[in-house]
Amino acid sequence: MGAENKLSFEFNPIVRGMKIAESNTLFPIHRVFCVGKNYAEHAKEMGSKVEKKEPFFFSKVPESVTQVDEILVPEDTANLHHEVELVVCLKKGGMNINVDAAHQCIFGYAVGVDLTKRDIQKNSKDKGHPWESAKSFDQSGPISYIKKYEEVVLKNNNISLSVNGEEKQNSSVDNMVWGIEELISILSKKIILKPGDILFTGTPAGVSKINKGDFIEANIQEVGQLELNFN
Ligand code: MN
Repeated sequence: MGAENKLSFEFNPIVRGMKIAESNTLFPIHRVFCVGKNYAEHAKEMGSKVEKKEPFFFSKVPESVTQVDEILVPEDTANLHHEVELVVCLKKGGMNINVDAAHQCIFGYAVGVDLTKRDIQKNSKDKGHPWESAKSFDQSGPISYIKKYEEVVLKNNNISLSVNGEEKQNSSVDNMVWGIEELISILSKKIILKPGDILFTGTPAGVSKINKGDFIEANIQEVGQLELNFN
């Protein structure tokens, strides 16, 4: 057994760090969870409605998340959509986390865009296939700098996104069906949450197509701003 103490990695593990506002340290990103249909108006525009009993979750690979401002439009979709979302970044994990204790897990927040290949997603839905290829691809989760928990007051914050200066999405984070603490608690009953996990908390109505050459500006009051050029 002694030899095990000498075990080392064959090559360096990939650890990716996300920038934090006004900080010299990086947030090491682990897993990326997303919640579907967390704003009633968006569920409606998708021809659906919110799940009454429980939210549903899906994942993106961590490599989806980026803080670059130049995004390449993938070639395999004719309908790339923007979904502006509040992103919650965890510094602490656990399982069966109580709603009341969930805030202790939060490191901070970011503005994120859950980029979605809507045509591929529809095709997957129709065929009963997984959504992964529609949701989890390179640069599919751009986020802003992370703002620390202590520096953000979340109360009726405006969440909005414009394309080439034209407003497309505009709502309030208070319109979420399941709140942040509830989402953390529910997710922790399904999997063991870990430090570095992040959660995209769903998008309000107004999703639309992104074309090459478009400029997107996404804002969440108190949290930050994200500016993206699509090429
Ligand atoms: Mn989404």
